Amino acid sequence: MNTQAKPRVLIPGAEIEATVKRLAAEITRDYRDKNPVLLGILKGSFVFLADLVRKLDFPLQVEFIRLSSYGSGQQSSGSVKVVQGLRLNIKDRHVLVVEDIVDTGVTLAFLMEYLKKKKPASVRLCALSDKPSRRRVPVQIDYQGLTVPDRFLVGYGLDCDEKYRNLPDICVLEE
Ligand code: 5GP
Ligand code: MG
Repeated sequence: MNTQAKPRVLIPGAEIEATVKRLAAEITRDYRDKNPVLLGILKGSFVFLADLVRKLDFPLQVEFIRLSSYGSGQQSSGSVKVVQGLRLNIKDRHVLVVEDIVDTGVTLAFLMEYLKKKKPASVRLCALSDKPSRRRVPVQIDYQGLTVPDRFLVGYGLDCDEKYRNLPDICVLEE
């Protein structure tokens, strides 16, 4: 990506906040008595997860997993590796995966299979944003935030070469 590129706001922080609030209400309805494990996928989901958990007023646990999709650039290569696995035993626990964005679906399809082998009571997916036009592998999003266009997005946790994660809005990069 060109270093001259400038972020332009696509989804302002206030709209993200309203979306997180809605998702929190849906999650509260389904999980308030389940002491779920909210599993964030590093690094992109850290901002979303931090905002989400502060809107959940019931017992829960937070865990992280770090995945990498082999290959370079802005595309999933199709081969996913667990860089930092789960330390927590999730057998018989209700797991809610928290992801920043579902693009091709390759990462999530892999992760859901990986988690199911550990025999949790349930596994569902909450994704802040979804780029349905890019899907290669079907993924069920149980709690879905925003539908976004087929553009490379930064901000609110999303990076370009590790930059821009700290932007409060979701932005597109422009020349
Ligand atoms: P998938 O395996 O669904 O193609 O890709 C999922 C991962 O790719 C996301 O978790 C995210 O880390 C990254 N990703 C997908 N689309 C974008 C995007 O528009 N911007 C950024 N920064 N990362 C993206
Ligand atoms: Mg991610």
